[in-house]
Amino acid sequence: MTQRAVSPPPDAATASAAASAAASAAAPGLPPAGAPAEPPPGLWRPAPPPANSVESRLAEVRIKVYPRSVSGTFAHWRIVFVVLTQLIFYGLPWVQWEGRQAVLFDLGARKFYLFGLVLWPQDVVYLAVLLVISALALFLFTAVAGRLFCGYACPQTVYTEIFMWIERRIEGDRIARIRLDESPWTARKIRLKVGKHALWILLAWWTGSTFIGYFAPIRDLGHQLFTLQLGAWQWFWMLFYGFATWGNAGFMREQVCKYMCPYARFQSVMVDRDTFVVTYDRVRGEPRGGRSRKIDHRGAGMGDCVDCSLCVQVCPTGIDIRDGLQYMCIGCGACIDACNQVMAKMQYPAGLIRYTSERAIDDGLDARAARRRLWRPRILIYGGLVLLLVFGLLSSLAVRSPLRVDVIRDRGVLAREVPGGQIENIYRLQFINTSDEALRLQLSASGLPGLSVRTMPSESADVRVPAASNLLVPVVVRAPLDAAAPGSHPIRFEMRSVEGSAGPQLDLNEAASFYLPQ
Ligand code: SF4
Ligand code: SF4
Repeated sequence: MTQRAVSPPPDAATASAAASAAASAAAPGLPPAGAPAEPPPGLWRPAPPPANSVESRLAEVRIKVYPRSVSGTFAHWRIVFVVLTQLIFYGLPWVQWEGRQAVLFDLGARKFYLFGLVLWPQDVVYLAVLLVISALALFLFTAVAGRLFCGYACPQTVYTEIFMWIERRIEGDRIARIRLDESPWTARKIRLKVGKHALWILLAWWTGSTFIGYFAPIRDLGHQLFTLQLGAWQWFWMLFYGFATWGNAGFMREQVCKYMCPYARFQSVMVDRDTFVVTYDRVRGEPRGGRSRKIDHRGAGMGDCVDCSLCVQVCPTGIDIRDGLQYMCIGCGACIDACNQVMAKMQYPAGLIRYTSERAIDDGLDARAARRRLWRPRILIYGGLVLLLVFGLLSSLAVRSPLRVDVIRDRGVLAREVPGGQIENIYRLQFINTSDEALRLQLSASGLPGLSVRTMPSESADVRVPAASNLLVPVVVRAPLDAAAPGSHPIRFEMRSVEGSAGPQLDLNEAASFYLPQ
């Protein structure tokens, strides 16, 4: 992977002229025949710092990118993913399951509800396995097809798409936005800017409110919000998340992908020459240049690239994919859509920019041969590990017992003699019901002759553990004085579902020890 060198920026006048030229050629998007190669006008630059200086590199951070809108296959897929991910994010907290919120991370009660599953702190191993699966899946998808996640499902990309859609509806497409930003402040400019930010802030606030709806029952939040009864942490996270959405999607945008996202930096170690990434076919495209549609460009020694710069104008990170694969490329495919439109107008084959591998371009492999090379050892290893872990996780969840029991000895009373020639030991049994139904259990103990069990203070051997709860029950176990020699003896607590109880049927036992004094 090559890293794009920071090229000397054109001065403001050049940028303005380029913008005007692009405006006049906006409809067909093609340069006039014989036109000189136009420098990529995707960027609006505030001032021309000296080339190759630290200042020029810092100026790169301040450059504002005005991506032009584009339609096509990949643009449609981006819309599908935006809608899908946002339906899930905004809709999921409103889904109900067995009379409660289906997905709720109740940090106060230390319980995570995931539909029928209730996870406790003891289940942290599932979370760890889930994180390992996510990391391996990321390695796998990156090795297969580069930054697919970034282009279609990353929250930064998705919210930037939504914010840019609002911006386009209010301020217009690329050229109109550049002109608006360059124009002096007028009533119209203030109206457009205020309208845009009002909608952005509304969306950001909704996003922040939904976020805290994953940690507190969302149906109560509206009332608590308008009566100012939210807790301090709820206020903090709602405002923080909303502010981060507004700042990142409205202002930072591609800067997050280029300078803040660690994934952009280490993706280069996960891709190789066989990874499918958005690639400019330089063998087919060079030498580039403007030409008439009617000439035989091959006969004239030209490649298929007409140097219209549309691929740069639509790029949300403002890069030129013709410079080679760069870490700033988020793999969104916008340049593919733009270039395919140009190729169609020129009546050249589509795919001058396409998803393919570096090896396919260098060695002239066709699509089928390039796809065959996807099956390489690292893909098989990552894929195998992901399948294995997913299978292990699902099997473990499927056989997971809905009841956990911990036996704790009462250290204050080791053993004591009670009337009737009996020795009494006291325990505390901690029951964790991880199911959505209450459990009714019958307690007994084995390991010594004549053992009897009763709970306190009810004096019965029945225990009712409410759904998704944690219950601590004091338990008295008695044995005859002569049941065994003095000392500690292993016993087992047995717990069986009471006949006819509505909860899952259980038959568990748990080890303990019974002490007989001298
Ligand atoms: S180079 Fe193409 S795929 Fe990469 S970010 Fe720009 S438009 Fe998207
Ligand atoms: S690669 Fe395609 S979109 Fe980009 S400048 Fe060449 S012809 Fe135009």
